[in-house]
Amino acid sequence: MSRFVDRATERFDLGAGDWVDLRTRITFGERNAIQAKVLGRLPLDGDGRIDPSKRELDLGAANVELMRLVIAGWGGQGFCSHADHPHDGVCEPRPVTTENIVALDETAEKILTEIGRRLVTKTPDFTQAPSPSRTAEEADPPSTADGSRASSSAASLDGVGTSSATLTRMS
Ligand SMILES: [Zn+2]
Repeated sequence: MSRFVDRATERFDLGAGDWVDLRTRITFGERNAIQAKVLGRLPLDGDGRIDPSKRELDLGAANVELMRLVIAGWGGQGFCSHADHPHDGVCEPRPVTTENIVALDETAEKILTEIGRRLVTKTPDFTQAPSPSRTAEEADPPSTADGSRASSSAASLDGVGTSSATLTRMS
């Protein structure tokens, strides 16, 4: 089995003849691009120095980047660049761009949820069921300040997935 990400897509039917094609896997480079969006731009203070206390995690931007990278195409009348139907000629979908993704209605949350369901993240923790012995080991070590700091790190793809799931549940 190849260790390079294959660019296979799956079609998600949005109803009313509209669809979106979603990649089922993302590359190392794409994961990095999404994580870079989570962290956002370096916060600079008045003197141009980096002020880490001003850094805020931007999960919204990360979700948009995730969608831009995972959506391989979309189509149907709902994505048409013409506002009025019927019109002459066939429907021409707007291009999949950051600008058009942020302009979506609640379809965006629908697509995000579907990405969360379909995207295969090749991380051992996700794909392997924990063995009983391993679970016991993990439950054993005393909780330290170090451990809690590590688990609160949001700069990972899990963070992106969680945020999209939360977004959807709230709507
Ligand atoms: Zn049209």
